[in-house]
Amino acid sequence: MMAKETLVEVENLKKHFPITRGIIIQRTVGAVQAVDGISFNIFRGETLGLVGESGCGKTTAGRTILALYPVTEGTVKIDGMDVHNARKSDLLAIRCKAQMIFQDPFASLNPRWTVSAIVSEPLRVHKLYSNHQERSDAVKELLELVGLSPRLINRFPHEFSGGQRQRIGVARAVATEPCFLVCDEPISALDVSIQAQVVNLLEDLQDRLNLTYLFIAHDLSMVRHICDRVAVMYLGKIVELGSKDEIYEKPLHPYTVALLSAVPIPDPATSRKRKRIILEGDIPSPANPPAGCHFHTRCPRVFEPCDKEEPEWKDVGSGHYVACHLF
Ligand code: SF4
Repeated sequence: MMAKETLVEVENLKKHFPITRGIIIQRTVGAVQAVDGISFNIFRGETLGLVGESGCGKTTAGRTILALYPVTEGTVKIDGMDVHNARKSDLLAIRCKAQMIFQDPFASLNPRWTVSAIVSEPLRVHKLYSNHQERSDAVKELLELVGLSPRLINRFPHEFSGGQRQRIGVARAVATEPCFLVCDEPISALDVSIQAQVVNLLEDLQDRLNLTYLFIAHDLSMVRHICDRVAVMYLGKIVELGSKDEIYEKPLHPYTVALLSAVPIPDPATSRKRKRIILEGDIPSPANPPAGCHFHTRCPRVFEPCDKEEPEWKDVGSGHYVACHLF
């Protein structure tokens, strides 16, 4: 079997946002620990799912990986290039290789710009055309690639449906021929009826353009469909990571087990047999996370060391990792 090639390396990534007080003289009084020391690799051509409840830090992680936020600590390498310590010219090259598809196709497109201006913006930034005709041809080709008619090139975003707008966002993201895309909940703002179409488009583009995805989502059924491996995040940390079969068939971390217990099962007989785990309480504040295991305030299996010692990241075999004192 051919060894997998690592495209993205994330090592102990932290992103803390300072909390300040005062109007004239601002003092830092704490920090929101949105991402608190996450590490993982993404192999070329694969889709890694990053899942967890709202507010667990997955969007911040995606944005920090692409250097849209400065890093607090840790390193991110994309195709061997250190994203946060790159020179300006190298950062431009990284931005060419790595792009983002945003969650909200309504907010992420400038309403005053035509489709042509939106899709060609990255081409302009990276100087990838030399005249008006080349730009227009490239935009038309990109629109066709994402299943939109090139005749729509001079329309404005408000003239499109949600699914079509997300296709425009995808066209913009692949304009620079990237190898890596962070897809930040790309379907969660869309009608259920068109979610599958956008997912099919992403899968099709992955095959045709040899793309690697970090797919951020909270819909675990969709993640199972599209991802090769899954990382589960809770309060700024990754608590479990493994192939989708390992995670869905043999979940280990109590948080993963609880999340999966809420995924709808189409077969009513199987669904009736399954026990739904309701987690008590709210997700704690990332400005003041609990000591020990961050999940201990809600964990149905909490025991002696959990509120004092942080669990280590353990390899349990078959590429399956978990951070929990039970293992
Ligand atoms: Fe639950 Fe303890 Fe495991 Fe944390 S370490 S998930 S509190 S059993």
